[in-house]
Amino acid sequence: MEFKKIQLNGFKSFAEKTNFLIEDGLTGIVGPNGCGKSNIVESLKWAMGETSAKSMRGSGMEDVIFNGTSNKASKNIAEVSIIVDNTNHEGTLQYKDMDKVEVRRKIEKDKGSKFYINNKEVRARDAQMFFADLSTGAHSPSMISQGRIGALVTAKPTDRRAILEEAANISGLHVRRHEAELR
Ligand code: ATP
Ligand code: MG
Repeated sequence: MEFKKIQLNGFKSFAEKTNFLIEDGLTGIVGPNGCGKSNIVESLKWAMGETSAKSMRGSGMEDVIFNGTSNKASKNIAEVSIIVDNTNHEGTLQYKDMDKVEVRRKIEKDKGSKFYINNKEVRARDAQMFFADLSTGAHSPSMISQGRIGALVTAKPTDRRAILEEAANISGLHVRRHEAELR
């Protein structure tokens, strides 16, 4: 599984439709302070099903919508789409056979947010599970935020285990077990 493209539209500082094509190999994002690098990472978290406004550096979920500048009007809708290359056929059974999967999240002012997988509306849970089954996701150890490297060094064994489980590709199983226990 590889992320091939991220499309932002009205998300935080990305007022207009912006495409990021991810080529093979390592990708770095560089730019001056405040140009939107962290916003791109947050857009990934958000589309993967992040439900906490705080971890998106906002006070409410609608804060992800472009809120205007001195010369550009604010927007009512924010949308982020992640296009995943799945030619090695991993992850959730339902999507395993597909070579390409698009996960999209859209939020509209006063209407809340919706998730779509390949243009079909799904539950937030389905989008979260899709990424968890691919051993990634908004809360997975594969997203390392600022200051987390130090925390990793001093982590408790249980926290460090989460990282090993992800490396072993079994973190999705834990999410499913937790879901089964809640039922
Ligand atoms: P640094 O190098 O300092 O980490 P960065 O490139 O990571 O900077 P970001 O934190 O991604 O920068 O972007 C911050 C910018 O995004 C700020 O200018 C802020 O005003 C803008 N921003 C955040 N939310 C919104 C929003 N809802 N609408 C418009 N602009 C926004
Ligand atoms: Mg930053």
